[in-house]
Amino acid sequence: MASISGNQQSMRQSDSDELFVCPYDPVHRISAKRYVGHIMKCKKNHPGADKDVCSFNARHIVPKPELQMHMSSCPDRTMFEFEINKGNFTTEI
Ligand SMILES: [Zn+2]
Ligand SMILES: [Zn+2]
Repeated sequence: MASISGNQQSMRQSDSDELFVCPYDPVHRISAKRYVGHIMKCKKNHPGADKDVCSFNARHIVPKPELQMHMSSCPDRTMFEFEINKGNFTTEI
């Protein structure tokens, strides 16, 4: 359902079995294939979690207060050529 596809991962195809730890519940281990779907579902189960998902890459889970900052410096934002506030771009870390 999520329209996130074509993540430009480096050519490490052999790591497809790698399991990721769920940011909402560390007990959950999710395969890369199911990660996005799981995050969306798990997010609903943890409404109190102070975390949010990056719009550019669902694998980026950042604390809510930092989401905006992350989005402005997300390494994946360029592939979307998302021109948010062109003139308002800061390189502040
Ligand atoms: Zn989970
Ligand atoms: Zn990101």
